[in-house]
Amino acid sequence: VFDMLIVGGGPAGAAAAIYSARKGIRTGVVAERFGGQVLDTMGIENFISVKETEGPKLAAALEQHVKSHDVDVMNLQRAAALIPGETIEVKLENGASLKARTVVLATGARWRQMNVPGEQEYKNKGVAYCPHCDGPLFKGKRVAVVGGGNSGVEAAIDLAGIVAHVTLLEFDVKLRADAVLQRKLYSLPNVTVLTQAQTTEVTGDGARVNGLVYTDRQSGESHRVELEGIFVQIGLLPNTDWLKGTVALSKHGEIEVDAHGRTSVPGVFAAGDATTVPYKQIVIAMGEGSKAALSAFDHLIRTTAP
Ligand code: FAD
Repeated sequence: VFDMLIVGGGPAGAAAAIYSARKGIRTGVVAERFGGQVLDTMGIENFISVKETEGPKLAAALEQHVKSHDVDVMNLQRAAALIPGETIEVKLENGASLKARTVVLATGARWRQMNVPGEQEYKNKGVAYCPHCDGPLFKGKRVAVVGGGNSGVEAAIDLAGIVAHVTLLEFDVKLRADAVLQRKLYSLPNVTVLTQAQTTEVTGDGARVNGLVYTDRQSGESHRVELEGIFVQIGLLPNTDWLKGTVALSKHGEIEVDAHGRTSVPGVFAAGDATTVPYKQIVIAMGEGSKAALSAFDHLIRTTAP
C-alpha cells in the first residue's frame, strides 16, 4: 500500500512526487507518459528563473529529480478507474490494481486539435496552442486565432498588443465570447474578425507556417490568409473521463478542487491542468502539485493510527 499514489507524470505529478518522497513516506507515480505536455513543447521562456529551455530538456530534468528520490515510478501505465474507500484503489488499464492511503490526481489536459492538413506538421513551427507561452515569439508578426469563444477572444486581445495583426476565425455565425470581451476585441485596430469561417488547411514552406486556408461557409468560397502564426483555441480537454461518476467534475470536465487541492472524495487530491484551477501553465501546475501533496500528507497524519 502506498502512502501517496500520484496519477500523472507531468509537472504537477512530478512536484507532488518530490514533496511526498521528501516526507519519507511510500510514494508511487503512475503515468501514461512521464513528462506530460512538456514533452510536446519546444521553447519555454516563462519557467521562472530559467530564461530559456526546451520541453524535452525540462521533462528529462523532472524525471531525474523524481528518480533521485525513493519513488516507485510506473511509466507507460494508464489508470482506468478510481475506487474510493479507506484505502483507495486505482485500477490500471492492464488489469493491475494499486492501493493507496492518499491519491493525487494530476492527469493534465490536451488541446483540442483542428485536425486539418498541416496542423501536425507545423506544430511548434507556427502552430501554437498557448498565447501566454508563445505569444511573445510572434512579436511584430501576423497571426490567426482559431476559435471565437472566451479563450479565443481573450487570446486575440492579448496577442493584438504584441503582434502586428490578428485574424480571428469563428466557425459559427457569431462569436460566443462574453459581450465585454467582444466589445474590447472590436475596438482594436489591428484585429480582423471572420465569422462562418472554417479553417481547412495550414500551409508552410516546409520549415514554418506561412498561411492558412479557410472556407467562407456562407459563400462556399475558399480564401487564404498569409501569416506567420496560428493559435488554436477550440478547447482544452482535461484527461478525466476515467473519473466520471467518482470525483466531482465541472461542466468542462475539470476536477473540482478547493484551495487545498482537495477533491470531493476524502483522501483524493488533485493538481494541475486537470483541475478547475485557472491558467494552465508549468509553474502553476508545479505549485499546485506541491500543494496537493502537502495537503495529502496533512490528511495522512490526521487519519492514520500512530
Ligand atoms: P500534463 O503535463 O498534461 O501531464 C499529465 C500527465 O498525466 C502525463 O504524464 C500523462 O501521460 C498522464 N496521464 C493522463 N491520463 C492518465 C491516465 N489515465 N493514467 C495515467 N496517467 C495519465 N506552459 C508553460 O508554462 N510554458 C510554456 O511555454 C508552455 N508551452 C506549451 C506548449 C505546448 C505545445 C503545450 C501542449 C503546452 C504548453 N504549456 C506551457 C502548458 C504546460 O505544458 C501545462 O500547463 C503543464 O504541462 C500541465 O502540467 P500537468 O502536470 O497538470 O499535466
